[in-house]
Amino acid sequence: MNTETLNAKKNSTKLNEFTIDDIGDDHLYTGIETPMKKDAFKITDSEKKERIAILFEEIMDVMGLDLTDDSLKGTPQRVAKMYIDEIFSGLNPANKPKVALFDNKYKYNQMLVEKNITFYSNCEHHFVPIIGKAHVAYISSGKVIGLSKLNRIVQYYAKRPQVQERLTNQIANDLKGILETENIAVIIDAKHLCVSSRGIKDDTSATVTAFYGGEFNTPEKIRELQNYINN
Ligand SMILES: [Zn+2]
Repeated sequence: MNTETLNAKKNSTKLNEFTIDDIGDDHLYTGIETPMKKDAFKITDSEKKERIAILFEEIMDVMGLDLTDDSLKGTPQRVAKMYIDEIFSGLNPANKPKVALFDNKYKYNQMLVEKNITFYSNCEHHFVPIIGKAHVAYISSGKVIGLSKLNRIVQYYAKRPQVQERLTNQIANDLKGILETENIAVIIDAKHLCVSSRGIKDDTSATVTAFYGGEFNTPEKIRELQNYINN
């Protein structure tokens, strides 16, 4: 692409009133669904890997890297495989964890908190890591879920290009549907490498987001939840 077409493309990619340059490093959050093309799954995962490898090789080549070097020549394939099979595998609904529910035989009716779920995601604006902990809680409406499934649901949504607000809401929304209850809470505390390793280069700041649904949306329940998390 020559500079003229690049500039034309840049100016046509306007978000609201702002150009990409105006927005800079500020992360916009456009909605709860990950924005996907309608034909996102028209080609298979192996076709995607082949195409990404070719395109990533092009990026490396443009940057002037010598792709014949033994250390570099496998990188395009490695990156392609890592994108599709690992760090962005949550884009494909086929990889959604299968969740079985059980009857709440113990009649446990207080909140259940699964805390300190470590996750690795990637910022969708810079494609660099978001590293954090998620705390997930629910109050049973009669059904219970295997504890490891709470971790798996967090990992599934983390393995997408993300913004933290959407990650929080996607996890909460899915749990609401699965557990058939509004009584869901999700708290995420994460470090964004696009903030710490580049740009503003703030190594100490972290971002916290929360969702409190149903019974969780009272000062008492929020305090109780915070106590469990901080203990
Ligand atoms: Zn970013």
